[in-house]
Amino acid sequence: MRRKIIAGNWKMYCGTPQEAADLAGQLAKQVGSLTDRDVILCPPFTALAATVQAVKGTNIAVGAQNMYPESKGAFTGEIAPEFLLSLGCTYVIIGHSERRTYFKETNEFINKKVKCALAAGLNPIMCLGETLEERQANKINDVVKDHVQGGLAGMSAAEAAKVVLAYEPVWAIGTGLTAEPKDAEAVHQFIRQVLTDMFDKATAEVIRIQYGGSVKPDNAKTLLTMPNIDGALVGGASLKADSFTGIIKYEG
Ligand code: PEP
Repeated sequence: MRRKIIAGNWKMYCGTPQEAADLAGQLAKQVGSLTDRDVILCPPFTALAATVQAVKGTNIAVGAQNMYPESKGAFTGEIAPEFLLSLGCTYVIIGHSERRTYFKETNEFINKKVKCALAAGLNPIMCLGETLEERQANKINDVVKDHVQGGLAGMSAAEAAKVVLAYEPVWAIGTGLTAEPKDAEAVHQFIRQVLTDMFDKATAEVIRIQYGGSVKPDNAKTLLTMPNIDGALVGGASLKADSFTGIIKYEG
């Protein structure tokens, strides 16, 4: 049985220590004692320390939204995985579609980041998914395969088993549109087949695959009870304690 993993991507919101401490503090009260699922909060860099502090002593973990794939060096403005670990972060989102689109992140760069995160001891959440144009051109499987194979290239099965994947159809992110649960399930099943071909069946069975794209309290249950959907990566609905709690506490 794969353990469910629900992560909140706060994007460029709640970035002041006070805002983050308020939201994380409410969530700590509402879901901090859950033991049957993993809950991760991913605030902006500037709010990581306050978020770690606010969830201290609870079962909630903290992740960053990005990192640079070097331990140190002349990379002005960038953040190394070791710096994130030193703050108490244990996860990092890599290759979100907004980074692929606005910052031109490629599979090769994402692959470097995933490997570097793992080497440093951070748990990567690697995002993938097709755009609306790609969906309309019937290219979902091609794109998903390319993202999985590119992002996990050159990794051993043992390394890959530590990566969390997040399937996020780009047209569903922040739009209020959600993939039909059975369509999302079909893509997750396909991803597991790609993982089986790349590594082996046992490895494919342990890798957790989140769904992301307008997940809300009222659609969380139908998505999260699909056999190959192992959790959710949540943007907008993770910014309010009550709506995020409604997703986290779905009952299967
Ligand atoms: C995301 O940012 O990863 C996301 C899925 O956003 P939203 O839930 O707002 O669609």
